[in-house]
Amino acid sequence: MIVDLRSDTLTKPTQPMLNAMVNAELGDDVFNEDPTVKQLEEKAAALFGMEAGLFCPSGTMTNQIAIKAHTQPLDEIICDKISHIYNYETGGWAFHSGVSVRLTEGERGRMTVEQISELILPDYDWYPNTRMVAIENTVNKGGGSVYRIDEMKSISGFCRKQKLICHLDGARIFNALVALNEQPSALHGMFDSISVCISKGLGAPAGSVLLGNKEFIRKSRKIRKVMGGGMRQSGILAAACIYALNNNVARLAVDHNNAKQIANTLQQCSWVKSVYPVETNIVIFEVADAVKTATVLADKGIRTSPFSPTLVRMVTHLDVTEAMVNYTIETLPKVVL
Ligand SMILES: *Cc1c(COP(=O)(O)O)cnc(C)c1O
Repeated sequence: MIVDLRSDTLTKPTQPMLNAMVNAELGDDVFNEDPTVKQLEEKAAALFGMEAGLFCPSGTMTNQIAIKAHTQPLDEIICDKISHIYNYETGGWAFHSGVSVRLTEGERGRMTVEQISELILPDYDWYPNTRMVAIENTVNKGGGSVYRIDEMKSISGFCRKQKLICHLDGARIFNALVALNEQPSALHGMFDSISVCISKGLGAPAGSVLLGNKEFIRKSRKIRKVMGGGMRQSGILAAACIYALNNNVARLAVDHNNAKQIANTLQQCSWVKSVYPVETNIVIFEVADAVKTATVLADKGIRTSPFSPTLVRMVTHLDVTEAMVNYTIETLPKVVL
């Protein structure tokens, strides 16, 4: 058996999702004429209480468009040392926007108001302008760690007081909401922009939505075009995303439960030094040699991602079945390392 736990981006569209794609009404979205894309953008905006949305090919693009639209060169953004924006977007903040980054060292990637306030710079010629704060929920590299609603609210309130833009990298915001047993409406009024990935645990083949006010989205459309992200009959992808939002949100709880079961098993394995607390669908654990561990596990059919020299990541998702979880739980204790 092959159990692919490398990422929740590996999911393939199910037959009902493919049916929704085949039957989607299409048009040219660069001409603003794809009704399915518009439907997705309006649906996502309404869920999160934002004025408008913009459908993009990836979550990297939605984050990078947000930075570009909110800042100008000589500005600085505050994010966490382990954030996706800082680590995994090819340094796009420098490349696209000419901004600098200042980093908090949050607990598993979660920044506090106190940590943010220490990084705000005074207005001297020799400092960049502190302009924007980006939080990530859940935090990928933090092992899917979750900011509670009150924690997001206090960061958002602080940013408003300091006149700082507050952006949410919500690549896995639905995992956070399901773990918290909350609805997207709990976030209404908190953020200037939100990026939501539909191609992670929600199971669409591609697509992220950027949310904000009308003026921000108008500006973002132009930036999307210059980045090469203007797509034509992209309703075929948007239809998959609409299907995912309608059908694949509540089931994320299954992934979370599977991740917890796998983590409990890892805790019993002699070759595992420690396991990060599991809050959602990501399990990060510490071993002596991450690459060697991943190779040995792959020989048993369990595919994982080495995440640092000593950390390994496993992610549960839509295509990880109960039988695969049972196989993993039975196999891990038998591994010799
Ligand atoms: C996956 C991810 C993104 C976007 O990645 P893409 O692969 O470009 O869609 C952004 N932020 C976080 C936290 C992610 O995990």
